[in-house]
Amino acid sequence: MTKLLAALAALALLPAPARAQADGPPRPDLAERVDALVADVVPDVVAYRRHIHENPELSNRETETAAYVAEHLTGLGMEVRTGVARTGVVGVLTGGKPGPTVALRADMDALPVTERVDLPFASTVTTIYNGMEVGVMHACGHDAHVGILMGVAEVLAAVRDELPGTVVFLFQPAEEGAPAGEAPAGAELMVAEGALSGAEAVFGLHVTSAHEVGELKTRPGGMMASADNLEIVVHGKQTHGAYPWGGVDPVATSALVVTGLQTIVSRQMDLTKAPAVVTIGRIDGGVRSNIIPDSVAMIGTIRALDDGMRAELHDRIRRTATDIASSQGATATVTIADEYGYPVTANDAALLDRMAPTLQRVAGDGLDTGVAPVLGAEDFSYFANEVPGLFLWLGVRTPGASDELFPPNHSPLFRIDEDALPLGVRTLAQLAVGYLEGDESAGR
Ligand SMILES: [Zn+2]
Ligand SMILES: [Zn+2]
Repeated sequence: MTKLLAALAALALLPAPARAQADGPPRPDLAERVDALVADVVPDVVAYRRHIHENPELSNRETETAAYVAEHLTGLGMEVRTGVARTGVVGVLTGGKPGPTVALRADMDALPVTERVDLPFASTVTTIYNGMEVGVMHACGHDAHVGILMGVAEVLAAVRDELPGTVVFLFQPAEEGAPAGEAPAGAELMVAEGALSGAEAVFGLHVTSAHEVGELKTRPGGMMASADNLEIVVHGKQTHGAYPWGGVDPVATSALVVTGLQTIVSRQMDLTKAPAVVTIGRIDGGVRSNIIPDSVAMIGTIRALDDGMRAELHDRIRRTATDIASSQGATATVTIADEYGYPVTANDAALLDRMAPTLQRVAGDGLDTGVAPVLGAEDFSYFANEVPGLFLWLGVRTPGASDELFPPNHSPLFRIDEDALPLGVRTLAQLAVGYLEGDESAGR
């Protein structure tokens, strides 16, 4: 081996920062500089979040929010697409070095909830929703998601020249569900419109008052449930309430159907694999005491944390409802509308493994990679069904504060401790950098 080759070989064994020192003046590595930049943008992130909080917009109506985001991304020199999935915004930040593409996602919509939190920037916005005047509030914390991702955009744009790859910023509308007649929407429609822009992995987070500031939680596999709307119409034959034998009673049949549906999860599903839920939330039929009606309609929701169990639940629900109806001489029409349903949000185990050192560095003891799954749903699942995805919970409860002060997401009293925002920015920024650099060190 020549002296030169030996020197090069020794150099290659050194970690990246030391290598930079050997090349020239010492400079912190990219991850360290990103951390310093995160600290600088925190006041901006707080301001973005407050602005969006004060100006909330419902699903598929996020026009002002989208304009605010698009202006920010354009100002950072990104390639920006607007009107994606109606009101979504996609920013593409092409790094100065070659490398892979990774996507970061924030959802932008608010809820028809009248805010009751005493804040100087509380929402006073009202609108007409389903024919009713309602308040509009960021009661799910998507204002924080948008503020955080705007901050991440600022940080990564500042180190653009050294980024080994491309970062796609997905600002998504309608996570809470599109208004009637507007499906597909949200993440599903963004995917269909090519928003992922060649990304090979996607990261997202959700603020939650269930966990405290400084806590970052995730798990491999199913983390949030699939959610499918269920409608069952039981058709009987109308008759006098005093002479039920003259018709077919859909009310009595529906009672059997509801009970039968409850034995699917409790008696037929392998609950050691994952939990599941079938709920009938509304039942509707008849007009007065002495008329057996022609039909009864019921609606409900189906939740699963495993794709196979989701499909099995659908089959068993159809069979249970139709067979019970038929046993009574009635018929049942079962509609499981996956049109408005969300798939299981499942984290890619290999991606979580790969990013665990980054998450560990970012959150330290606050990191938990074995959090229990929840049966709420998220349409981040559509992105994560396209490419490996990782979704995280970001705690926003003041440490030690009560449930009363930090009620669950969707409450009119939902609040976040803004001290949680820096960890949110750092998490997404470092996941992007860690992913891109990981690929570089793997030999790109
Ligand atoms: Zn929500
Ligand atoms: Zn949400």
